[in-house]
Amino acid sequence: MTDSGTFQSYMYGDINIDPYEIVAFQRDIGCDVGTILDIFGTPDQTKKQAKKGIDITIERAKKSINIKDSMKLACPVQGSIYPDLRTKCAQELGELNADFFPIGGVVPLMENQRYSDLIQCIIAAKKGLPPGKPVHLFGAGHPLIFPMAVALGCDFFDSSAYVKYAQDDRLIFYWGTEKIDELTELPCSCPICSHYSISEIKNQEKSSRINLIAKHNLYVSFEEIRKIRNAISNGNLWEMVERRSHSNPHLLSAMKLLQSKDIKNYLEKYEPISKKKALFYTGTQTLHRPIVHRSQQRVQSCFSQINKTIIEFEETKKPYSQTYSKQIQRIRKKNPLFSIIVKSPLGPVPIELDETYPFAQSVIPIDPLVEQNEYLKQIYHSFYKDATVVNWRNISSLSTISSSDNEYEDFDIRRIRYVADYQFGKGAGDILLKGKIRFVKSKKTGKIRNIYSDDKHVLSMRASDGFFTLKIEGGRLLHDSFLSPLIRVIVFDDAVSFIREGKSVFAKFIKDADPGLRPFDECLIVDETDSFLGVGRCLLNRAEMLSFSSGVGVKTRESNNI
Ligand SMILES: [Zn+2]
Repeated sequence: MTDSGTFQSYMYGDINIDPYEIVAFQRDIGCDVGTILDIFGTPDQTKKQAKKGIDITIERAKKSINIKDSMKLACPVQGSIYPDLRTKCAQELGELNADFFPIGGVVPLMENQRYSDLIQCIIAAKKGLPPGKPVHLFGAGHPLIFPMAVALGCDFFDSSAYVKYAQDDRLIFYWGTEKIDELTELPCSCPICSHYSISEIKNQEKSSRINLIAKHNLYVSFEEIRKIRNAISNGNLWEMVERRSHSNPHLLSAMKLLQSKDIKNYLEKYEPISKKKALFYTGTQTLHRPIVHRSQQRVQSCFSQINKTIIEFEETKKPYSQTYSKQIQRIRKKNPLFSIIVKSPLGPVPIELDETYPFAQSVIPIDPLVEQNEYLKQIYHSFYKDATVVNWRNISSLSTISSSDNEYEDFDIRRIRYVADYQFGKGAGDILLKGKIRFVKSKKTGKIRNIYSDDKHVLSMRASDGFFTLKIEGGRLLHDSFLSPLIRVIVFDDAVSFIREGKSVFAKFIKDADPGLRPFDECLIVDETDSFLGVGRCLLNRAEMLSFSSGVGVKTRESNNI
């Protein structure tokens, strides 16, 4: 990959380069990825200046694409610190036949630790760019910001920071940089720090000292990248972001931006529905993690005001329904329709969801967090509204309803209904449970496993995250009752025969999908006329399905052969 000279002009003053000659030059020397000569938008620009800069950048991008031939072309998103300009620039570049999208003009923000502005620039650019194309954070070379940048959707980094810091006798660590003179030990086990003592490095000639420190800086940077990849695969990248943000007060302060509802709504769309690893609490920022935001939203929309009487339990050992089993029985004998809620720091947890991710699979200190946190107080306030909230110790004050009503619904059936609504949307439970219901429990754990409606296997409950796997017969029920495009992935006609054979759905064969689907959600696969083809598991959300031109969008689980 080559750069075009834009950053060099910014750093070292005016350099006379023809914007198209430099693209042709990169092409002719055989670059895999060349870069257009964009206009560097500095943070001190007025909006008018920034607008002029992006107009020229977009114009140059359009013309450069015509001469790129087979070289991949990087078109940097500019727009200074104005989020609307960043998004506009990203949208217009995204519509072109470009291959690679750097976010440019951010080095001065990073140099001055303006991380809030940096986060806004990244999110604004990502909102406008096609999610299937790679994004490069230009000039990001400090591991301190790698986890955050990746969590926001950056795929590539480049920087000469490792050698620039080395020239200044500074060692990079994931928590910041340290002057070698201020260190008494090397707090690192990379090959350099394992081989040399700190005094040996200090006593080197300048050039070999730079060389050693630069190598250390690279080892540390790549170690952090590998940790990020692990975190992505384990599903705990946000946890890593939160932990890392505690290394630097500027970064910690910038994290507050991620508490805004707009940004949480945006990030939530890309968040898988469950993770391999339990959710670990790192501090109050955890309450704003995209997956927690989603669970709060869904609980609010599905289960608020289900019953005007709410019996409240304190956070306790999980699973809640086992710890509180006797008390729950007593409450259900009084009235099985009462809402039973555990006052968790993740927000109100209906007792029926206590085996579902992230409520069951989370590790949070049991302390009076809810009472102390203004944000949580609001969450509870809007969930409870005008309901009567009674602590479980005080239920003797409530009247008991008659015994015929008392047989209303088995607790297991109620659990199935709640999880179905939480997972597939309100009303799914009623649809899936309308026949004669029978279920099989695990002999080992006593948990619900397979659910049959009129002797047809409709759902299986996963032990790992407490969500359902949708079977073909369950898919048929939801397809009959949920209108298009709810929980559907719509495929082009030429993919239909492959799906009937049980093959997975490639993204390029996807015509449209429910915007409510999230990565790893269960879905219905249908053709353009809404004929039911099968059930599967999404690997992407709608925006990604429509943007990716390669790769699998949905893993088909069962096809409909009727
Ligand atoms: Zn080292």
